[in-house]
Amino acid sequence: MADSNTAASGSVRAAGAPLVRAEQVRKYFPAGGMLNLKQEFTRAVDGVSLDIMAGETFGLVGESGCGKSTFGRALIGLFPLTSGRVVFDGADLALLRSRRLKDFRARMQIVFQDPGSALNPRITIGDSLLEPFVIHHALTREERRERIQFLIERVGLSGYHLSRYPHELSGGQKQRVGIARALALNPALIICDEAVSALDVSIQAQVINLLADLQKEFHLTYLFISHNLSVVHHVSNRVGVMYLGKLVESGSHADIFERPRHPYTKALLSAIPGGGVERIILSGDVPSPAHPPAGCRFHTRCPQCRDFCRAEEPPLEAVGAGHYAACHLK
Ligand code: SF4
Repeated sequence: MADSNTAASGSVRAAGAPLVRAEQVRKYFPAGGMLNLKQEFTRAVDGVSLDIMAGETFGLVGESGCGKSTFGRALIGLFPLTSGRVVFDGADLALLRSRRLKDFRARMQIVFQDPGSALNPRITIGDSLLEPFVIHHALTREERRERIQFLIERVGLSGYHLSRYPHELSGGQKQRVGIARALALNPALIICDEAVSALDVSIQAQVINLLADLQKEFHLTYLFISHNLSVVHHVSNRVGVMYLGKLVESGSHADIFERPRHPYTKALLSAIPGGGVERIILSGDVPSPAHPPAGCRFHTRCPQCRDFCRAEEPPLEAVGAGHYAACHLK
């Protein structure tokens, strides 16, 4: 049975079901150029399953290149999946066609890391904010004008900024515009893809507070993607940890930050300044996702690696209520 707020959006989501369910999502890219004669693939995302509940902030962390941004983009259909399934608000996105798919896509938005490159330098901020309404044929001209005025003020800017060009705004102001654009079509889900990583620390705090206020006001759900565990610690209700295209641990905020089970999660936590635990230095680099190691993908860097870790891949299994880890020694 669909709950009342989702029924209005045309969803078939059962009461208590996640807003987003990713099932064994894979995204491979050809590793050998356009022709890819060797038929090699970079396994950017390699079988990630997770649920995101309505109204929560799900933090997704991992080092650069672990596949977290690719996963976020695949989730909202910015490129097709290699395999797997994404269910959004009760609907399998692969089964939706034309108008209905467009309506669902409007409800899934993204805020990018680099607010400058996300905005067209040749058009004003006002025209940038107009684009989502034009693309989706939403609202009358007067309604659009009122909505844009509302949005720009709601993100802490003013009508003055609507006639400015991106180069006339600071990084923090541009990111506020990026957030306003994401809000334009009343989304249910916003992917914040390293959304504060390029900002100065003081501006980061302002933007994080703004995102928290908007979440309460508009009942938003966030997938908060970041390499920075301190930021994820601050904003998330639940957390997933990715390594080399795989989810290696997920759980509640307390599961991940107070009782981590995977050696990689423990190493990431040990790097948080002032965390009070001894620093675990990982040796070596992250292996290439085109040639991931056999067995446990983390075995080449794991301080606890045993012989069987090199041969057998550990499945992601429950280690507590809602807490999962992929490690033979969990
Ligand atoms: Fe380390 Fe082995 Fe666990 Fe992998 S399975 S994280 S190599 S202990």
